[in-house]
Amino acid sequence: MGLTRKQVLTMMGAAAAAPLAAGAGKPRVIRRDVCVLGGGSAGTYAAVRLGDLGRGVVVVEARDRLGGHTETFHDPATGGTIDIGVVVLEDEPVVRDHFGRFGVDLVRLAGGEGGTTAYVDFRTGRPVDYTPPAPVALPSYYQQILPYGPIDTVVDLPDPVPAELVAPFARFVAERDLGSIVPLAFAYGQGIGDLLGLPALYALNLFGQGVVGKLLGGGYVTSAARDNSLLYERAAEHLGDDVLLNTRAVRVERTRSGVRVLGSSPDGPVLIEAGKLLVTVPPLVRNLAAVDLDATERSIFGTFTAGGYYTGVVRLSGLPAGVGLDNAAAETPFHLPPLPGLYMVAPSAVPGLYNVKYGSPSPLPDAVVRREIRAGIERVAAAGTYPVRFEGFATYAGHVPFELRVGPRDIAGGFYRRLNALQGRNRTYWSGAAWHSHNSARIWLGLERLLPAIAA
Ligand SMILES: Cc1cc2nc3c(=O)[nH]c(=O)nc-3n(C[C@H](O)[C@H](O)[C@H](O)COP(=O)(O)OP(=O)(O)OC[C@H]3O[C@@H](n4cnc5c(N)ncnc54)[C@H](O)[C@@H]3O)c2cc1C
Repeated sequence: MGLTRKQVLTMMGAAAAAPLAAGAGKPRVIRRDVCVLGGGSAGTYAAVRLGDLGRGVVVVEARDRLGGHTETFHDPATGGTIDIGVVVLEDEPVVRDHFGRFGVDLVRLAGGEGGTTAYVDFRTGRPVDYTPPAPVALPSYYQQILPYGPIDTVVDLPDPVPAELVAPFARFVAERDLGSIVPLAFAYGQGIGDLLGLPALYALNLFGQGVVGKLLGGGYVTSAARDNSLLYERAAEHLGDDVLLNTRAVRVERTRSGVRVLGSSPDGPVLIEAGKLLVTVPPLVRNLAAVDLDATERSIFGTFTAGGYYTGVVRLSGLPAGVGLDNAAAETPFHLPPLPGLYMVAPSAVPGLYNVKYGSPSPLPDAVVRREIRAGIERVAAAGTYPVRFEGFATYAGHVPFELRVGPRDIAGGFYRRLNALQGRNRTYWSGAAWHSHNSARIWLGLERLLPAIAA
């Protein structure tokens, strides 16, 4: 449902002046303590936990489901499921509690769930003679990142920011003799883009204390049903009418007395009057067009750039059972594949269906990514590496924008101090991957720190 700016302003004015009843042409009015924009990992968790804390919430979600980057493909032929978004979660009490309360059983992942990985260069389709090094420097890396604090949970940096976090990650690992961890960090940090060229801060954020600690001694979990979306389906049932799906905020006004969100829903316009706003959508200015951003917010969010991370399930024949293809390059440092490019083609639990992941340092049109995924696979056959045949996409999803970041000068100039200072300003709190990390456990831990202020 499209609304013009004039209609929006008229409705907001009318709703303020008129009795607040949902009648023909008038917006339905919802009053809550907190309005949450975005119902992915952060928004859903926050809504559930704010309810625990006795606060009334309403979630405004643009899509027809909760879950955001958590997506599960259901194969109509076999009934099998493939998580194509969030797959693994750190084995943390916050994760077990959140899944547990909704009766979604978890299983530990033993790591390397069988199968064989072959390394190919998807630019040529040829095999790459490569064996990843054992990450012998991992304990040393872990010890060396500890002093920076939990920057994978809340990007709260010392001021001034240590120069080594501003410098490229390539220098961080070279100066500390940590090269053996790079392929592992790249695999865990899929979606980050140019891992070695980015400021080390971003590598330490994604491949940080939580992730590395679990690799060294903890563990990872996933849903026993191999369907992480169950968490969000059950959370949606729990939240009931407090979730507005297929709904977009058209205009958000924050004043001294409260927050007013005019939304466009399938049932017509809705006006939410709340005490506070929690924004969990990626904080790019264009994503926040409906929000009455002030000059400070506009300037901070206008600094972000983003990449793209793409995922899907393809039908393939001709690959030996259990064989997956990882992208590698013969001539690059650590044999990392140049991006944009495929990360990998991995066999799934459903025979003939393979999970594909593709990354780009800047967003690409979906048509380009789909074409490149197919072309990369077809080059493997053309080069005679494997007689693999591409038989189509079973599903595909572009996750754009992904991994919001700023340049070294902005980091050194106190960007993250200014970003964090926005919490609570204008009756607004902020969460989601850009504020924590692209890691659901870290997002939920970060939210636990924020919730007391939001609920106060
Ligand atoms: C392919 C892929 C694999 C991943 N694998 C893992 C993994 O294995 N483990 C892990 O921990 N993390 C993984 N991640 C990282 C993941 O990003 C985080 O775990 C987490 O899901 C991010 O949560 P979020 O709330 O910030 O974003 P999202 O979950 O994307 O939520 C944002 C929500 O806001 C909605 N939205 C956007 N704009 C609007 C608007 N204007 N109005 C209303 N709603 C809006 C979106 O539809 C979405 O539902 C993966 C990410 C991707 C893309």
